[in-house]
Amino acid sequence: MNASNPSQAAKPTIAVIGYGSQGRAHALNLRDSGFDVVVGLRPGGPTEVKALTDGFTVKTPAEAAANADLVAVLTPDMVQKKLYNDVLAANMKQGACLMFAHGLNVHFGMISPRADLDVALVAPKGPGALVRREYEIGRGVPCIYAVHQDPSGRAEELAKLYAAGLGGARANLIKTTFKEETETDLFGEQAVLCGGASALVQAGFEVLVEAGYQPEIAYYEVLHELKLIVDLFYEGGITRMLEFVSETAQYGDFVSGPRVINADTKARMKDILSEIQDGTFIQHWVAEYDAGLPNYRKFQQADIDHPIEKVGKELRAKMQWLQQNAAQATATPDAAQAAKPSTHPIAETA
Ligand code: NAD
Ligand code: MG
Repeated sequence: MNASNPSQAAKPTIAVIGYGSQGRAHALNLRDSGFDVVVGLRPGGPTEVKALTDGFTVKTPAEAAANADLVAVLTPDMVQKKLYNDVLAANMKQGACLMFAHGLNVHFGMISPRADLDVALVAPKGPGALVRREYEIGRGVPCIYAVHQDPSGRAEELAKLYAAGLGGARANLIKTTFKEETETDLFGEQAVLCGGASALVQAGFEVLVEAGYQPEIAYYEVLHELKLIVDLFYEGGITRMLEFVSETAQYGDFVSGPRVINADTKARMKDILSEIQDGTFIQHWVAEYDAGLPNYRKFQQADIDHPIEKVGKELRAKMQWLQQNAAQATATPDAAQAAKPSTHPIAETA
């Protein structure tokens, strides 16, 4: 995209609200793609200095939104309702576009956008640091996009323009709906990625340690080596993993995998999906958040206190390549964001 591009005239001015994992990557990529980008943040908030250092004009969310054709809401999900109701609803221009990176608030009716606004989402399938890094080397992270309401008739075009600005069009763009994006995203993180995988690792560790094996050995077997397996999944699916492991490992996989994850497990996954779909999960999560996160903190502490964390910390201290990564992470803002403890929504509300 450059000045000779005919779509240049139609390029919306963009306000990016929030400068965390996604916000920073979106703002930088969109600016490098030729968009006029302003960042909206609470004055004195934790990421203001970063946005200023990156050369952005930083305004309050109200001022940024008032002058933009497109407002990208990239704050933590749980503050978006208040941000929209208190700030964006009153300040966004007539006929502007309200853009999200996750459909949660709109899909579950926590935000009911003004009828004159186009409402869309563009969700990169990767963390912000990767969205930025891939863009910088001329590639892109695949994006999915969706339109919730389209009074202008241009919402889909705007979503695609935005996704292209992120670099997503260089990789793959898939059209979805707010419902599909929200429900599958929640299911994935709960049943498989975060909830399922961590519970599987903890249970495997407990079984070995309770049987009298050394925790150090158990750690290597059930947590450390998981990365090697996941890397193979990522590169070439389960087929590639099977190509790389021994025949003994394959046979053990075939006969024991279905005993761990069986029809009962699948039935519970379906229960989890039903509770996402019928709003039970979000109702519980909003109530928990509004109550000040009492159970959340208890669960978080239990994970942190699990014995696998103590032995893992000791063993990782002896993995030199990890020490190098940690040093780099503190030296480069992109990598530091991958860890992003300081901008976590929960950390902020604490
Ligand atoms: P984050 O926690 O990394 O950053 C949030 C930013 O919002 C910070 O700059 C913070 O200072 C700012 N902020 C917090 N409260 C605010 C307020 N009231 N007003 C203005 N700014 C405020 O968030 P994130 O992980 O980038 O998530 C942003 C959105 O992107 C969410 O909708 C999330 O679901 C979505 N998303 C995230 C990822 C990811 O990998 N992190 C991937 C896809 C989609
Ligand atoms: Mg867990």
